[in-house]
Amino acid sequence: MGIPCTLIAGDGIGPDITDATLRILEAAGANFEWDRQLAGMSAVHAVKDPMPEATLESIRRTRLALKGPLETPVGDGYRSVNVALRRTFDLYANVRPARDIIPGGRFDNVDIVLVRENTEGLYSGLEHYIRVGDDERAAAQSIALITRLGSERVIRYAFEYALKHGRKKITLVHKANILKYSQGLFRQVGQTVAKEYDGRVAYDERIVDACAMQLVMKPESFDMIVTTNLFGDILSDLLSGLVGGLGLAPGANIGPDAAIFEAVHGTAPDIAGQGVANPSALLFAACLMLEHVGDGDRAVRIRTAAESVIREGRTVTRDLGGTATTREFADAVVARIG
Ligand code: NAD
Repeated sequence: MGIPCTLIAGDGIGPDITDATLRILEAAGANFEWDRQLAGMSAVHAVKDPMPEATLESIRRTRLALKGPLETPVGDGYRSVNVALRRTFDLYANVRPARDIIPGGRFDNVDIVLVRENTEGLYSGLEHYIRVGDDERAAAQSIALITRLGSERVIRYAFEYALKHGRKKITLVHKANILKYSQGLFRQVGQTVAKEYDGRVAYDERIVDACAMQLVMKPESFDMIVTTNLFGDILSDLLSGLVGGLGLAPGANIGPDAAIFEAVHGTAPDIAGQGVANPSALLFAACLMLEHVGDGDRAVRIRTAAESVIREGRTVTRDLGGTATTREFADAVVARIG
């Protein structure tokens, strides 16, 4: 029996990159029992609901999902599918590794894992307008809610990830010099948790603006970053940019009841249905999932094979300057896995 896992192929290029990823996983002998479910636009077409109960039910059962990109239908009454998943399963840690694969880019030695708090901070959804005189919307307020519990669980997750993956240092990124209460609390919790890992994982801190500069000047000085929601959102895309864009970037969303793995990019409507999309980001997301379920050796085998095909540059997709189709790239990776 394989490990039960919900599979959402998604919209646009989703089905193409999912097929390619599954073929490579299968060639490597990965042992998943897929439960195919719908979400996004394909679910709207099929059952008029972008997040069907059957899909949520499946994730509740398997506690594990591999997800292609989803198109959220525009218009009233539709909530963002990705936000709905995050809320439903309390996916508090967003893990975004960034490592350069292709030599000759801006940097050759970036290897950073960013862990972003995914449920609170400025994205808590606590917003309102303030009336002044006749103007009902004279001002607006968004509350950055930081809790001890929310901070502690994501910071602890980062430290445990460091131990599990042989990472040496965690940099907590904050703005406590200005936001003394909310950011101050996150930082204080960081210092308390860090003491428990003293001697096993090094800990330091950066103010977010200084961190942004150092990331583009000396990215090799970072190993892991843990930070609050808004800063993590911005810095994780910055990191993707350092290593060649979103096309190769995987992400994991981890919660107490489920873990959902996905490519960071969207549905790429401009190339959908053409069979030319690069499946690497979803494949690398599947590798994060293998590591999550304790099959790290297989993740390394797959990643090594895919990275060597990408580095060689002979059978790569258009976004990487090649002419290969999604299928041809997948074949090359399968051949390399042996
Ligand atoms: P996008 O990531 O889909 O596309 C941006 C550009 O990158 C396009 O030129 C596209 O062709 C290219 N690209 C993206 N992935 C690629 C791949 N694997 N191989 C080759 N080229 C690739 O971003 P967008 O155009 O802003 O968004 C399109 C749709 O995707 C929107 O409906 C958006 O809401 C949705 N979206 C979903 C997710 C998600 O489900 N996680 C994330 C981002 C965007």
